[in-house]
Amino acid sequence: MSDHTEKVKCLIIGSGPAGYTAAIYAARANMKPVLYQGTQPGGQLTTTNEVENFPGYPDGVTGPEMMLELQKQAERFEADVRDGWVTKVDFSGSTHKVWVNNNKEIHCDTVIISTGASAKYLGLDSEQKYLKLGGGVSACAICDGFFYRNQEVVIVGAGDSACEEAQYLSKLCKKVTMLVRRNEFRASKIMAARVKSTKNIEILFNTETDEVLGDGQLVTGVRVFNNQTNDKHEIPATGFFVAIGHKPNTDIFKNYLKLDETGYIINDPGTSKTNVDGVFVSGDAADHVYRQAVTAAGTGCMAALDAERWLAAKE
Ligand code: NDP
Repeated sequence: MSDHTEKVKCLIIGSGPAGYTAAIYAARANMKPVLYQGTQPGGQLTTTNEVENFPGYPDGVTGPEMMLELQKQAERFEADVRDGWVTKVDFSGSTHKVWVNNNKEIHCDTVIISTGASAKYLGLDSEQKYLKLGGGVSACAICDGFFYRNQEVVIVGAGDSACEEAQYLSKLCKKVTMLVRRNEFRASKIMAARVKSTKNIEILFNTETDEVLGDGQLVTGVRVFNNQTNDKHEIPATGFFVAIGHKPNTDIFKNYLKLDETGYIINDPGTSKTNVDGVFVSGDAADHVYRQAVTAAGTGCMAALDAERWLAAKE
């Protein structure tokens, strides 16, 4: 082993509710877990405003606050929470190898993957151009909405995320136009009803984005089309928000783990076990059905228990 190589009993990759819960359980089981936080410490919930449906918070809690509390709870039991981005893995041998920041090599008895999922974009050239320029395209209203105070914005999507973000933006912005590609919402009834009853949110059904318009630096509007009539029109806007779902962060595992067609890790039903012995998965990286903080936390617990039992059976 070189100077850069370390051996750990339980390595946890990712710091959302799944990763931190796995860390709490693994630490209390004396597995001395090391957790790498990744590029978005706290995971997706740090971009969520109010979490109203996590049991134990009758008055709600903000996403970032809840993540800090989970981190504190994991550290209370001496989980080793570190900054760092896992860039490569090698699960081909009996020792699972993981590289952090393309540099540090870690040899792990067990690995718990809790890498979650990332926001999807439409993929239009104009969307990507203004996204890269930082000129008015965003997939996180909570992070960026502040910059559009008293301005007009457009948001794409019809799920719970889009409704939550539209609602959030409506409190900051003069007007929010919501583009829904079908003639109905995917979101839960309560979330859709809130959006529908908000005065400064205009909902355009059967409507898709044709082009994000701009002056070369900043977004100035969005050209949309009705997918029933093909009619096009332009909506003036300084912000274009995309809230159309997420992609699991599993690319680095694809040579070793079984993934479904979207990239979600396939686990043994009713367990957190992957097809590689000693490698477990929790949270949204394997869950395209529930995708909730509380289910992620539940599977984080399962992964730590499965890892502990797997180690005990080997010893
Ligand atoms: P979803 O997959 O639920 O919804 C994605 C939405 O984006 C759908 O309405 C879909 O349209 C639309 N969409 C996808 N691709 C495009 C496209 N190319 N152009 C236009 N529209 C598109 O993702 P969410 O992120 O909203 O939610 C993920 C999970 O998280 C869900 O289970 C949700 O319930 C949960 N969640 C819960 C919250 C809460 O309870 N506080 C808050 C946020 C999320 P279509 O319907 O036509 O397929």
